[in-house]
Amino acid sequence: MNAVDATGESSSMKPLNAPKNELLSAVVAEAVAEGATDIHLDTWNERAIVRFRVDGIMHEKLQVSASDARRLINQVRVSAELDIEATVKPAEGQFRWSNGEAVRDVRVTVLPTAPSNEAAHLRLLTTPEDWRDAEHLGLSIEERRAIEAVLNETHGLALIAGPTGSGKTTTLYALTGLEDLVHRVAVSIEDPAEYDLPNVRQMEVNPRRGITMQEGLRILLRVDPDVLIVGEIRDPHSASAAAQAALTGRQVLATIHGRDAAAAIHAMHYFAVPYYILGGALRMVIAQSLVRRLCRACAEPRAVADAEARLFDKVGVAPPAEILDPRGCQSCNGYGYRGRTGVFEIALLDDDFGLWLADGRAQHEIRNRLGEMGVTPVTTRALEKVAAGETTIRELTRLFWSTLGERSDPPVDVKTEGP
Ligand SMILES: [Zn+2]
Repeated sequence: MNAVDATGESSSMKPLNAPKNELLSAVVAEAVAEGATDIHLDTWNERAIVRFRVDGIMHEKLQVSASDARRLINQVRVSAELDIEATVKPAEGQFRWSNGEAVRDVRVTVLPTAPSNEAAHLRLLTTPEDWRDAEHLGLSIEERRAIEAVLNETHGLALIAGPTGSGKTTTLYALTGLEDLVHRVAVSIEDPAEYDLPNVRQMEVNPRRGITMQEGLRILLRVDPDVLIVGEIRDPHSASAAAQAALTGRQVLATIHGRDAAAAIHAMHYFAVPYYILGGALRMVIAQSLVRRLCRACAEPRAVADAEARLFDKVGVAPPAEILDPRGCQSCNGYGYRGRTGVFEIALLDDDFGLWLADGRAQHEIRNRLGEMGVTPVTTRALEKVAAGETTIRELTRLFWSTLGERSDPPVDVKTEGP
């Protein structure tokens, strides 16, 4: 890994104030200060913009001249040791940024855009302290205990589901902290492995070296694992390998795309895993979303509107007297929000559910059955957070309107970004 660093402690680290990295370091510093996860740089012939993604939302940060944009992209290339000459094909790399206090690993992609411009994406990887502790996920103590119990069973399949950017991988990593991995052999196949996991043999998908997901799983299942972690189930091979491993005495933990637990179970079936196999293998599905956390320094209380009260009634959450709207102040960089918190649907699946599922079920039947079992949907959990003043109704409608099943207009403008 290469470094853009203020301290100059290591001979391989380039000092922050070196002229060749000043612009890049200033942009990364600003992104870190705002809690951004991504920096996007787009260039056109005469102009360029730098945008940050903060808590899932894109914000335009600065317009820069074409020459500054070229300088910035060159600094990215130098820092990540990309091929300076090759501007005609995409390039990927990584560097480490530090200002002496904060340290961030930054994953970089630079790609040519038509007609003869360039764009860059910088992903600021979170530091391990942010995710290693399951307490930071937003789970209650009871939820943690229930999950821990399932994860420390000898075998079974646990799925973590959610849409893209919902923090599935963060949860996957954090959950490994709830498992006893000292007394078990744990292996993972990831694409890519974002962090070192203690006590886990991590393998990365790398088709150029012959390690496809399928081949990686085949090898890992031969090294006597007790715990198998699958970065993401994306195809029939990984789906069936995960289910089969769970049925043959392994604890399997995997992420899968799906907006709720029923959709995740259905996705496994879509990947050609028969329902009778799934019924025997599945022990738990955690479906999740991330909602932005209100900035308490500037949030404004107001009365609940009638349409909003109906929404609370519909999902069975008592409407509060007041809810909070975002406003924006200095401490939240004007966004009205600071950070995000997880909302979880936790479905613990027993043998009865497995036997019921084995007969083959439609997605809506699975959803209804989970409701009857007392599993609380993500949308209800999110509305509870609105009632508690942790997030806003605007944030909830932005994320979940399409799944709330309303035919009328949403109570607030769902397209609104930020406060
Ligand atoms: Zn604020």
